[in-house]
Amino acid sequence: MPVTHTLEGPLSVDVLGRQDPELAEILLGELERQSTTLQLIAAENFTSPVVLAALGSPLANKYAEGYPGARHHGGCEIVDVAERIAVERAKALFGADHANVQSHSGSSAVLAAYAALLRPGDTVLAMGLPHGGHLTHGSPANFSGRWFDFVGYGVDPESGLIDHEQVRSLARTHRPKAIVCGSISYPRHIDYAAFREVADEVGAYLIADAAHPIGLVAGGAAPSPVPYADVVCATTHKVLRGPRGGMLLCGSELAERVDRAVFPFTQGGAQMHTIAAKAVAFGEAATPAFTAYAHQVVANARVLAQGLAAEGLAVTTGGTDTHLLTVDPAPLGVDGRTARGRLAAAGMVLDTCALPHPDVRGLRLGTAALTTQGMGEAETARIAVLFATALRDESAGRGVREEVRDLTGRFPPYPAH
Ligand SMILES: *Cc1c(COP(=O)(O)O)cnc(C)c1O
Repeated sequence: MPVTHTLEGPLSVDVLGRQDPELAEILLGELERQSTTLQLIAAENFTSPVVLAALGSPLANKYAEGYPGARHHGGCEIVDVAERIAVERAKALFGADHANVQSHSGSSAVLAAYAALLRPGDTVLAMGLPHGGHLTHGSPANFSGRWFDFVGYGVDPESGLIDHEQVRSLARTHRPKAIVCGSISYPRHIDYAAFREVADEVGAYLIADAAHPIGLVAGGAAPSPVPYADVVCATTHKVLRGPRGGMLLCGSELAERVDRAVFPFTQGGAQMHTIAAKAVAFGEAATPAFTAYAHQVVANARVLAQGLAAEGLAVTTGGTDTHLLTVDPAPLGVDGRTARGRLAAAGMVLDTCALPHPDVRGLRLGTAALTTQGMGEAETARIAVLFATALRDESAGRGVREEVRDLTGRFPPYPAH
């Protein structure tokens, strides 16, 4: 097919600036914020300009309910190919029999996994929210808590590690229809084989919510849930570094149930620009450069954990296997919320989070974004020092802010070409 249209010219911030200066200023202001502060939010990253190009493409215009070759709308011949490429790349990347790439978000993927395997009122065993479970793991404010009967397991308060004995005894007592493994803040590898064993013992499905570690899995830096879980739910925008969205992986026997659970059960039209961007991200994740990035993310997180421990912060589980870690800043004389404010003033952006000790808010940090920027162990070690400096002494914040500005200036997420 001869391509007669090009994307140059009409589709740029330049045009936005001329047509809608008010919004252009917002886009550029946010780029400036992301480029001059440190993004330590464990769920965030910088997608490539290629992913951004796909997101800003005319595929955003296309309605495509259904699946490739079986759409409810005309004119899907070309976007069908985009979705087939995304599915094939995801299957190859994760060694899965089946991939569904239509979920609009990680939460939508979890909703679809439940819809595929459960009926309202079923019992589900998942990590309790105070221990690091996600909203979709039974929060009373979420559909999950309203429509299912959730039982929560936790981490050992001393070690911070998942208490597999508790998982087993709760499973024996409550006989859940499904067990969910996955967390928003667990810094260690998940032992999928251990969860599989318990699920088999009580006849439960195993759902792995790998929203966070799936990018490390893609880069070979974390164990894969695919051989163990009946259904894997994930996001595409965290360590995986793709567009904001979700996906599901499963064996061929559940493929049709999972597909129907996404469309038509919980979603309408697929977002073809996002699916094309997912395909781009899966392609990027299959490269040696991505493997190196994934391992560097973990190496940086380990250095950050060591550095913060050396500065006196209490690091949950004593360290990390992944891109994220959680810390209690109390030994430096500040609580989590105060700490987040001081760090923000010093140009370090991060979240508070639950810690194994109930009622204590800690801090959750991740190294995916700064690693994407090109920072390594030397920079990460320095960040740990700056972090503690800003926490200890509010008046040091200004000096730290300047050093953060200098550091981020040397590692721009989107270098000007
Ligand atoms: C991020 C996350 C989600 C939800 O992703 P959204 O895209 O924000 O809906 C679900 N589960 C876990 C464990 C997560 O970390």
